[in-house]
Amino acid sequence: MNTEYIDSYYSRTRTDDVRRPLLDGTVEAETCVVGGGLAGLATALALAERNRSVVLIEARRVGWGASGRNGGFVSPGYSLGLDKIERKLGRETAQSLYRLSLGAHATVRARADQAGVRCEAGLLKCHLAEHGEGLAPYVERMNRTYGLRLEHWPKTRMAEALATDRYADGAYNPDAFRVQPLDMSRGFARLAEAKGVRIFEGTPATGLARDIGDRIVTTPQGRVRCRHVVLACGGYIGTLNLRVSAATIPVATYVAVTEPLGERLRQTIRVSTGVSDVRLANDYYRPLPDGRILWGGRISVFHPDPERLKEIIRADMLKVYPQLADVRMDVAWGGWMGYARHKMPCLGSLDDGLWHNTCFGGHGLVATTVGGELTASAIAEGDDRWRMTEPFGLAFAGGPIGKIPAQAVYWTLAAGDWMRRRRYEAERAAA
Ligand SMILES: Cc1cc2nc3c(=O)[nH]c(=O)nc-3n(C[C@H](O)[C@H](O)[C@H](O)COP(=O)(O)OP(=O)(O)OC[C@H]3O[C@@H](n4cnc5c(N)ncnc54)[C@H](O)[C@@H]3O)c2cc1C
Repeated sequence: MNTEYIDSYYSRTRTDDVRRPLLDGTVEAETCVVGGGLAGLATALALAERNRSVVLIEARRVGWGASGRNGGFVSPGYSLGLDKIERKLGRETAQSLYRLSLGAHATVRARADQAGVRCEAGLLKCHLAEHGEGLAPYVERMNRTYGLRLEHWPKTRMAEALATDRYADGAYNPDAFRVQPLDMSRGFARLAEAKGVRIFEGTPATGLARDIGDRIVTTPQGRVRCRHVVLACGGYIGTLNLRVSAATIPVATYVAVTEPLGERLRQTIRVSTGVSDVRLANDYYRPLPDGRILWGGRISVFHPDPERLKEIIRADMLKVYPQLADVRMDVAWGGWMGYARHKMPCLGSLDDGLWHNTCFGGHGLVATTVGGELTASAIAEGDDRWRMTEPFGLAFAGGPIGKIPAQAVYWTLAAGDWMRRRRYEAERAAA
């Protein structure tokens, strides 16, 4: 199994390259976490902070999956919108879950600072022009209910900030931030090790079994004997556990990074912020410290090769900033996100001592820490707050076969967006 990181801007610029050993022989711990992405690392850290013994095994390398490939936008909330969570769970529970994500956001920031990970403040969520201005009520409600400090940016402010007429208005969050996510994942691994977590790389779990009161996790050259197992494998779970695998739809999404732009960067994105629009498969982008633009977007079940991806993402960028027509993409890559059918994280206990903390979809940089905290406090303290998400649960989605309806949903949404845009442009041309 190849244990190198894929070629990405993040693997090219990562600030440390410590390699962890592969597991050879038998080790014992109270908990074995399977998966070294942010979900597994957050669980391991939260358990170690509660003085519990933890072994974490990662099939490739820490942050090799979605956690080390993403857009680096760190903000509270979940992949499923708050309104929909409220509809399913009621206002009180939905608010509790959102507040947990606010706490997790602060935890991620504190851990990033402690690990020496550079954090750049500010994310701007934008309404597309064809949707009209509409984010003011959202800003007012979030500030009133949760004490956030969101600013509403009307069209004039948007035009000052960004050299495009693509957006109607925006909600700016000065407390959300951007990171180099592979550095952050690796930083969290260092923090976990400092608290006593033993991490093994190049060590896939190949089987899960029981031995009287214990659980045994088998790997190619060893095994972990433990009381609890936490499955945190995201969209890379394969067939490790029938129920979790069948509930996980692996969905691909892509990122590309331009060549350095020099002065043109400040002429295009005139403020220091990450930008995303409000669609499910949205465009999101941010200036990088070395003068490039990182651009991400799309969801798909296909994984085109990097050269083709550069062209696809470049075309998306030019729809918003046609003035960058001569700009080259230097590197492009994709990653699999684990989505549940309902788009909420799947947390909890499958069976005595067998836990899962997964399916964070496209909004996992903070939500994985909510999952890690709830899983760890359930194991260490018998806390059952994870049950708040239980009505969503491990809904059967057909595993990899679930990709087909997911792709159909994406194409339908994309067709709707395209038609709305065409109508808007025709109306503008007629006016
Ligand atoms: C391109 C992209 C852009 C994104 N942008 C953002 C963003 O800007 N903001 C945001 O909040 N979210 C974003 N996301 C989503 C976010 O990255 C994920 O929700 C989050 O990283 C999920 O973490 P995870 O630990 O569950 O999964 P992963 O990071 O995928 O980790 C799972 C790990 O489990 C390992 N594994 C699998 N099977 C086994 C096994 N049998 N044994 C041992 N190890 C195993 C894998 O090797 C992998 O390292 C993005 C995702 C992608 C792909």
